[in-house]
Amino acid sequence: MQQLVLLNPGSLALRNVDPPQAGPGEVVIKIQAALTCGTDLKTYRRGHPKFPMPTPFGHEFSGDVWEVGPGVTRFQKGQAVLVAPTAPCGECPHCRRGFGNLCDYTMRTMMLGAFAEYIRVPAHIVAQNMFLKPESLSYMEGAVLEPLSCVVYGGQHLPLDSRDTVVIIGAGPIGLLHLMLARLRGAGRIVMVGRRKMRLATARRLGADVVVDETSEDVLDRVHHLTDGRGADVVIECAGHPQVWEKSIAMARRGGHVMLFGGCASGSKVRIPMERMLMDGLTVKGVFHFTPDAVRESYQLLTSGALQVSELITGIHPLSEFRRIFETLSNGEAIKLGIRPGF
Ligand SMILES: [Zn+2]
Ligand SMILES: [Zn+2]
Repeated sequence: MQQLVLLNPGSLALRNVDPPQAGPGEVVIKIQAALTCGTDLKTYRRGHPKFPMPTPFGHEFSGDVWEVGPGVTRFQKGQAVLVAPTAPCGECPHCRRGFGNLCDYTMRTMMLGAFAEYIRVPAHIVAQNMFLKPESLSYMEGAVLEPLSCVVYGGQHLPLDSRDTVVIIGAGPIGLLHLMLARLRGAGRIVMVGRRKMRLATARRLGADVVVDETSEDVLDRVHHLTDGRGADVVIECAGHPQVWEKSIAMARRGGHVMLFGGCASGSKVRIPMERMLMDGLTVKGVFHFTPDAVRESYQLLTSGALQVSELITGIHPLSEFRRIFETLSNGEAIKLGIRPGF
């Protein structure tokens, strides 16, 4: 089968490899749809400390069960399925306290290689984070399960109120998913901050009340005016730059909530004024990845049709066009791109 491999930062190749086989508890999926995400682009550009090269690539996908290993009873060949590409061990101290997202095993056993024709799902993921795809959901929409799970996990830690002004910084796929979720949860007013016209237009279509183009407006000023000088009730940071983290903390109201979502380059440091944390009583929360509970909630949201996730997919290409796909992403001309291995 063909599998896309990252040889070095910036250098991709399609390789012919043996298709995977299902061991005990495992399932092999024939991939019908895969999606690119911000992590893929970052890995393509600068490598990834957790994925030594050469490395297979891609972790957002959906497809059909091709082979089931011994002991698998919940799935059968031919069923259409959605999969989140990680699951926790269930036994370590983090897992026992309900923080499977922080379990070492979760990231160590992450599935990679969704930009390929087939992929093997390890037993612990089959058992926890694999679901049947209903007819009403397309394979491409189903592949959104992973990023949506991250966003839903964040949402589980964020109080939202119909009086709240919510500022979301970063109009990429994660910011736009936060927008859809906050809208659904009844946030009062949503302000979307971004740098690219196409993404801000999408934010408007998805229900943002105010969009702010950072390249031509001072965001702090604008939020100050919009809130009569108080600041935003909730700030969700989805850009992944230390200066944006600092700005997010600066624009929250006294007693407000700041959720830090975007991964900065490792080792980055952020400065927080003491008065903001102490006298202004801010809640600043970092969120990482997701738990099986968040995956189940995302699955329910996706299959309910309540979110317009197809708005995020701005193009669909065959796997053979991988160079063009990553060029388009690098130029910022896409939100997410769909990849079909089969044609
Ligand atoms: Zn992803
Ligand atoms: Zn664990």
